[in-house]
Amino acid sequence: MTSTEPLYHSVNWNLDYNLRLGKAWSRFMRGLQNQQLWASRCDACDRTYVPPKSFCESCFEAVADEDWRQVEPVGTIKAATIVYQGFDGGPEAPYAVGAIEVDGTDTMLMHFVGGVDLTDAEGARTTIAPGTRVRAVWSQSPDASITDIEHFVVDPSA
Ligand SMILES: [Zn+2]
Repeated sequence: MTSTEPLYHSVNWNLDYNLRLGKAWSRFMRGLQNQQLWASRCDACDRTYVPPKSFCESCFEAVADEDWRQVEPVGTIKAATIVYQGFDGGPEAPYAVGAIEVDGTDTMLMHFVGGVDLTDAEGARTTIAPGTRVRAVWSQSPDASITDIEHFVVDPSA
């Protein structure tokens, strides 16, 4: 009788490749390179997406080029955490990340939250608590990538 226990094989993937971003992500990244944050809007179900989408994820309607709009790079933290264990290719831990609802949108943008004292875990959790207002800090060396926003910072006046 053959065992039904699952087998495990050790696999190591270390791949260099070029990822084709597609029309929506390319346009979004080029906007970031110019310190512009763009959203796509679905008029059929009244949803605005950041990052923008080619198709509405809710009703599957195509989003036309003219349905894009620029939004202010400010928003509200909806959820956040402090990462203590980094990963290959990522920033050195610890660091804070947040799910940020950009003003005027219905989705969340995951990004780093900078300027947080991570030596005080409890204080850091309070600093980046849900409801905290944040604004983007733009990179001084943009390269059409998500890190053209270096991070968001807490800004109660945002
Ligand atoms: Zn829709």
